[in-house]
Amino acid sequence: MRNIIAKFRLSSHNLEIEEGRYIKPHKIPVNERFCQLCNYGLIEDEIHFVLVCESYNDIRELFFSKISSLINNFYNLENGAKIKALLASKNHTILVWFAKFLKCCFQRRAFLMVEIERVKLFKELPFHFN
Ligand SMILES: [Zn+2]
Repeated sequence: MRNIIAKFRLSSHNLEIEEGRYIKPHKIPVNERFCQLCNYGLIEDEIHFVLVCESYNDIRELFFSKISSLINNFYNLENGAKIKALLASKNHTILVWFAKFLKCCFQRRAFLMVEIERVKLFKELPFHFN
């Protein structure tokens, strides 16, 4: 369960901010590693994934309502402080909930990305049927 948080801390995940490094033949510049799910031209980094992307709003709402009972003033913290409070927490309950939240969001992301890749593939077809 904590493994997922440890990996997330070490940037060992498949968000665009990391994936962009490994695209061949040319890696994507850091400022162009956009989130493909919300399409607002926002960089998909850890803060975007955990705190901003609307693709996970419902999961996040539930998670925040739980977390705010354990972290003082959680809703009013700046994004940087919020992510730090989660990643650096030593509270077992917070870590368990955070791990569940990450797992849930990554599952949804994987599901949505399959659909996005399918649409892309279709657009890249060398001909159209009309
Ligand atoms: Zn997004």
